[in-house]
Amino acid sequence: MFKKVLIANRGEIAVRVSQTLQEMGITALAVFSDADRKALHVMRADEAHRLPGAAPGETYLDQKQILAAAKEHGADAIHPGYGFLSENAGFARACAEAGVTFIGPQPEVIEAMGDKIVAKKTLDGSGVPTIPSWEGDATDPKALAAAAEEIGYPVLIKAAAGGGGKGMRIVREPAEITAAMEAASREAMNAFGDARVFVEKYIDRPRHVEFQIFGDRHGNVVHLFERECSIQRRYQKIVEETPSPALDEALRAKMGEAAVAAAKALNYEGAGTVEFILAPDGKFFFLEVNTRLQVEHPVTEMVAGQDLVRAQLLVAAGEPLPFSQESLRQSGHAMECRIYAEDPARGFLPSTGRLAQFSTPQGAHVRVDASVRRGSEVSVHYDPMLAKLVVWGTDREEARQRMAWALRRFAVLGVTTNIEFLTQVCDHPAFIAGDLHTHFLEDHGLALAPPDTLEDPVAIAAGLVARAPREAAPSGEKDGKPTGPWQAAQRWRNV
Ligand code: ADP
Repeated sequence: MFKKVLIANRGEIAVRVSQTLQEMGITALAVFSDADRKALHVMRADEAHRLPGAAPGETYLDQKQILAAAKEHGADAIHPGYGFLSENAGFARACAEAGVTFIGPQPEVIEAMGDKIVAKKTLDGSGVPTIPSWEGDATDPKALAAAAEEIGYPVLIKAAAGGGGKGMRIVREPAEITAAMEAASREAMNAFGDARVFVEKYIDRPRHVEFQIFGDRHGNVVHLFERECSIQRRYQKIVEETPSPALDEALRAKMGEAAVAAAKALNYEGAGTVEFILAPDGKFFFLEVNTRLQVEHPVTEMVAGQDLVRAQLLVAAGEPLPFSQESLRQSGHAMECRIYAEDPARGFLPSTGRLAQFSTPQGAHVRVDASVRRGSEVSVHYDPMLAKLVVWGTDREEARQRMAWALRRFAVLGVTTNIEFLTQVCDHPAFIAGDLHTHFLEDHGLALAPPDTLEDPVAIAAGLVARAPREAAPSGEKDGKPTGPWQAAQRWRNV
């Protein structure tokens, strides 16, 4: 087993990886940018290495510096977390050349799955159902229009190099197709430096259901069941759960088999996720393979009773998987909410500042993977996710009730958060019913939450009176200082 592992990441995932490393007696080496000098992930690690600067390009994405740090500190492996260098085949190769183990699948697999067109072609014929699509020259308007007609509207234009929902456009009318293609292509060029797009059948009101896969060097391949991630905003997941309320045993078995078939076709090593789109009629289609640990992996850990980071380390060290398909069970139900520093009332604008309070719920079957603590600075430099709140229950309703409770006990002061918004999602009758799809938030009018202000003047006055001492000094002046109810009320001010 490794002696020291460099964590090439920050935030909650770096904290999370440190924990397992330390449990296994492995030294956790953090890296940090100047903006993260006092970050939680640095404090929780055993050792830390500074990457001068704040921009990701000169810090967490700087391959040379990270490899040099691994050498300098004698790390024998690198855990990339998610995001940053986690799906960078070039970095995985550079690690191998430097004699440091990259904790992730083989570089060829990362490369093939990083391109949506190549990924689909690779899995053709492996028994994994793919969405009808066209990968021809999209810059030829005639060919593009004919292809879309053949697939049948609505269609989705997608960036080959896509990620995070960027470079996608739904097209419902033939007249819109050329403009949509140009917009998607431009966005893809800006985001990924790769303008290639392709056309796919658009599935209306689908669910996003993904399967956790795991493989090792000894030919073992398993899946650890599904995660439903249909609650999305702009194609980004916000609430995830497992089991999916949409799957019965038969469908779960079929989708699980397809996920394992994909993993086998790739000779997959390590942790990965096979994403599917599930249509309302129960048909499912392959979306993509994510060649890393997912943000939402804790719900799987809770229901399967496994530590996925531990399994990643074992596999990367050449050991066999610590579980077999037969030994794996889904026990109970788990849900995750992503807590963001953002303002739902102002179009989900990121909110920055110092955390005057950060008080997380504690109790049975409640897990908080946080990237911050009280006093932390939430800056503009990185992703505004503060924490993941994960709960477990014996069934879905118990888990949901626990989530609703835990959200109400999650207190953050200093930045605006989406906690109130998440509470509304959890309490919504359609969510309670498990009636989910990827347009849930828009369809139920939750995408733009109303401003959260206290407007009733009687309530405000009552609060002040209740706080005021019984015998407030009359307004005036004493010893050169003003006296009166506002002074007596200490922290209250009439503004
Ligand atoms: P990215 O890599 O940008 O995350 P994905 O291919 O994983 O892109 O898709 C992200 C989300 O977009 C999915 O979870 C789903 O909500 C939606 N989506 C993708 N493809 C389709 C499709 N063909 N029909 C309907 N929705 C889709």
